[in-house]
Amino acid sequence: QTIPNLTFHNGAKIPQLGLGVFLVKDEAELKTSVKTALEVGYRHIDTAMIYGNETYVGEAIRESGVDRKDIFITSKLWNYDHGYEEAKAAFQASLDRLGTDYLDLYLIHWPSAKYIESWKAMEELYHEGKIKAIGVSNFQIHHLEDLMAHTDIVPMINQIETHPEFPQNELHEFMKQHNILHEAWGPLGQGKHHLLEQPVLVELAEKYGKTPAQIVLRWHVERGIVVIPKSVTPSRIKENSEIFDFSLTQEDMEKIAALNSGRRYGRSPDDQKFLE
Ligand code: NAD
Repeated sequence: QTIPNLTFHNGAKIPQLGLGVFLVKDEAELKTSVKTALEVGYRHIDTAMIYGNETYVGEAIRESGVDRKDIFITSKLWNYDHGYEEAKAAFQASLDRLGTDYLDLYLIHWPSAKYIESWKAMEELYHEGKIKAIGVSNFQIHHLEDLMAHTDIVPMINQIETHPEFPQNELHEFMKQHNILHEAWGPLGQGKHHLLEQPVLVELAEKYGKTPAQIVLRWHVERGIVVIPKSVTPSRIKENSEIFDFSLTQEDMEKIAALNSGRRYGRSPDDQKFLE
């Protein structure tokens, strides 16, 4: 099976499935997950400065033997690195740790103060060809409106918490209208709140001969969302990629959508104390 690409508004492409590496700090564990993912067909890795593993991600990619140009690498600008000069320096430091001279995607990790100045630095890096696509993460509608009102380039993607209990319907529609791709973090609900044990997911897993995790990932894919599930278990990394050989009926999509409870599992993007 091949992993499809989605296209940003600038024409660049992003594989619809990537590997998330949040909380994977151990060198051996990180390298095994990245190499397993590349072996089973992933070509997209989602890291961030704050994950503390960019160096290992870069090493694992080089050790895998897969060409850098065939891999889509995302990293993110952390909250205390905001500002025009600060963002440029933080970007360069990420490149140095990853051992590469460009990023496929660079995101503002959270909408901290000064994100407009950081975005202007990112626009320049984009025009210089050092970043192929620029985007944001954890932006609400009001943040996107503010950013678009004060800068030139509309973000190409917004990476936000999204799973059946928190589907982000309103933000999803807003982003669609502005050609901003939707990328889900925590697509599996971060292994929290027994999401994958919900009877409807277990029932659909049996119906399609898939696992609840695959059903949830397929639901995202059919909504046109980019997914970056995290696992350090080789069998699960493979399992999470086997979602492009079946499709859900409209009725089953709706059954999953009915799990919407408005329950955010992670931090709120309006948590000012965290963003300072
Ligand atoms: P996730 O939804 O991907 O859940 C990961 C957890 O789900 C694993 O630790 C494991 O417990 C479980 N799991 C994975 N595969 C499974 C399977 N096949 N069957 C059963 N259980 C399975 O949560 P996440 O890691 O928080 O999110 C994915 C990625 O998104 C991260 O690794 C990171 O790259 C990114 N992320 C970004 C932000 C942000 O603020 N931008 C925040 C959190 C995560």
